[in-house]
Amino acid sequence: MIRFRHNPCNSERITVKFGYDKDYINDSFHNGLDIGALTPGVEGDELYAVDDGIIKSVRLNSSTAGNYIILECEKYTARYLHMQKTTVSVGQKIKVGNIIGYMGSTGISTGPHLHLEIKTCKFDDKDYWKKDISGKYIKAVDPESLLLKEHWAEKHFINLNRKGITIYERRFDDPITRGELFALLDRVSTN
Ligand SMILES: [Zn+2]
Repeated sequence: MIRFRHNPCNSERITVKFGYDKDYINDSFHNGLDIGALTPGVEGDELYAVDDGIIKSVRLNSSTAGNYIILECEKYTARYLHMQKTTVSVGQKIKVGNIIGYMGSTGISTGPHLHLEIKTCKFDDKDYWKKDISGKYIKAVDPESLLLKEHWAEKHFINLNRKGITIYERRFDDPITRGELFALLDRVSTN
C-alpha cells in the first residue's frame, strides 16, 4: 500500500472527499481530496511535498484550478491546486516535507483549501489527463488513503504505550467528534 511520507498540510479538516460527494458541484466526480485551511477562511497555510520528487509543471491563473503545481514522485504524481502562491519552479528537485507553496483559493473555489490529486503514473504518461465516462481520471486514487493519520492521532491522543502495547488515550482538551475518533482509530496501528 502506498502512503505519503509527509502530509500535504497541517490542517486535518477534510471538506470534500474523493469521488461522488453530495457537497461537490454538479454531482460530478471529484478527482481529489479537499482539505480546508487550519483557520477557515484564512489563506497561507504551508503546503508540503508528500515525498521526494521533481516539479513537472507550475501553472498560474488556470481559470478552474487556479495556481497549481505538479510534483512527480517515485510511485505517484501529486497535483496541488488553488494555491495562493508557489515557491518552486519546473525541473526543481524537492525533498519530502519541503514547502512547495501556500494554501489559497485561486480558480474555482469557495474558500481557502488544498485540492490534492494523486495519480499512479508519471506526468508524461499518455493516461495522465485521460478521464473515463464518469469524469474520473483513470489513474486517480483517493488521496485520503495515503494520508498519515497516525500523526493526527498523536495530536489528539496520548500514547500510553503500556507493556509494549500501543494504547491511545484521548487528550482532555480535544474537541474531537465521535466520527473523527473512529476514523482515527481505524488508522492507528495496534502493534
Ligand atoms: Zn477539490
